[in-house]
Amino acid sequence: MKRYFGLILLILALVLFSLCLQRINDPVIPVSSVMTPEKRIPGAVVLDAGHGGEDGGAVAKDGTQEKDVNLVIAKDVAAFFRLFGVPYVMTRDGDHDLADKELDTIRERKRSDILARYALVNETPGSVLLSIHQNMYEVEKYWGAQVFYAPDDADSLRLATLLRASVTRGTQPENGREVKPSNDGIYLLYRAKRPSVMVECGFLSNERELSLLKSPNYDSALAYFICRGVLDYYSLRENV
Ligand SMILES: [Zn+2]
Repeated sequence: MKRYFGLILLILALVLFSLCLQRINDPVIPVSSVMTPEKRIPGAVVLDAGHGGEDGGAVAKDGTQEKDVNLVIAKDVAAFFRLFGVPYVMTRDGDHDLADKELDTIRERKRSDILARYALVNETPGSVLLSIHQNMYEVEKYWGAQVFYAPDDADSLRLATLLRASVTRGTQPENGREVKPSNDGIYLLYRAKRPSVMVECGFLSNERELSLLKSPNYDSALAYFICRGVLDYYSLRENV
């Protein structure tokens, strides 16, 4: 029974939350009719599963690749976006990147991949970037989600703060990591022209967190609370 307790709570929360949504007269969602992830949807959340294809991202001791964890969580977030009517477009929905394959070096392809993701966000009017990544560190003890945001942008900071609040409240109340402005090491955020955040969902270098991140139940709980953070952002922004 204990095994299913978290799941039952999550389902109850979902039902309650969707009932609440129906009771709100002003729509929380800026565009409610779009349910398919087509490109260039004005006002869409650009849901970015980090890395992909030849770029695996960080690799855990047991060989788990960051790109795969990112994609699982991003697809779960997409499922909740569909449920709540949040318009979105994914930068990828399979194991590939967005690089120009004609380019010779990995370095050039990596750059072209980032620029393609960047264009998708910044050429979509009214879009918001939600990039999903995992963390890695040489010391195993560090754990917990952390949210980075585009520096000097109030909307990015607000979105990051709401995401952090939702994810920590829902899945890791002891996590004291604060939101952080990105430095130039995160191109998508540092050069952002739209509200942009990156959620580092957890540390692949921490054994306990790695096993959680490999659990479908934990991934979908994380995704649910990420989705709620986004809904909170739209709800607040409409009232500003
Ligand atoms: Zn990454």
